[in-house]
Amino acid sequence: MTTLIRKTFSVPPLGCNCSIIGDPITKQAIIVDPGGAPERILQEVLGLGLTVTHILHTHAHFDHFLASGDIKRATGGTLCLHENDRDLWSQLEMQCRMFGVPYVPVPMPDYWLTDDEKVLVGQVSVVALHTPGHTPGSMSFHLPDDKLLLSGDTLFRGSIGRTDLWGGDFNAIEQSIRERLYTLDEATAVVTGHGPDTNIGREKESNQFVRMS
Ligand SMILES: [Zn+2]
Ligand SMILES: [Zn+2]
Repeated sequence: MTTLIRKTFSVPPLGCNCSIIGDPITKQAIIVDPGGAPERILQEVLGLGLTVTHILHTHAHFDHFLASGDIKRATGGTLCLHENDRDLWSQLEMQCRMFGVPYVPVPMPDYWLTDDEKVLVGQVSVVALHTPGHTPGSMSFHLPDDKLLLSGDTLFRGSIGRTDLWGGDFNAIEQSIRERLYTLDEATAVVTGHGPDTNIGREKESNQFVRMS
């Protein structure tokens, strides 16, 4: 088996981790959470020699999709989101105003992802897990063959996403983490929405907010 192509880097304005994930065989790729700096993201895609088919979003906070319109225009990739974040997505201008960030219009998503749906990137399958709590439509993306999870703002290293913003729900995020994420293989590496990577075993043991005991 050839190794998955993956590049993760943080983008302005709030340091969201954007990931490019590519199939080494077909060179098809997805981008997860293009929160800003579209030129940088497109340059990375070009450098890796990949063709973007889908643009996936862990949720509809502005810092995770401000560059999505530019990326869609440049690549033709399908914009994907869970439908429960439809309202948040359409309130992008309000979100930007609240955080004092320049507003860039982004078209509505092309496709609504559902829980447990599999997105195929060439030969690589990415499973979309609905993990609500940080927002009603928050999703985590699981690549079982590569033991990799992209947790968005649901799970951080040592911490969890805030639940005091639009539609946030602490009980829901706790349940999502316990039932959907902590049930994955402990060796699963986790790329978080902000800050450093972690893994499932480490968080089950030592997360400050949700532990398995
Ligand atoms: Zn968020
Ligand atoms: Zn965020």
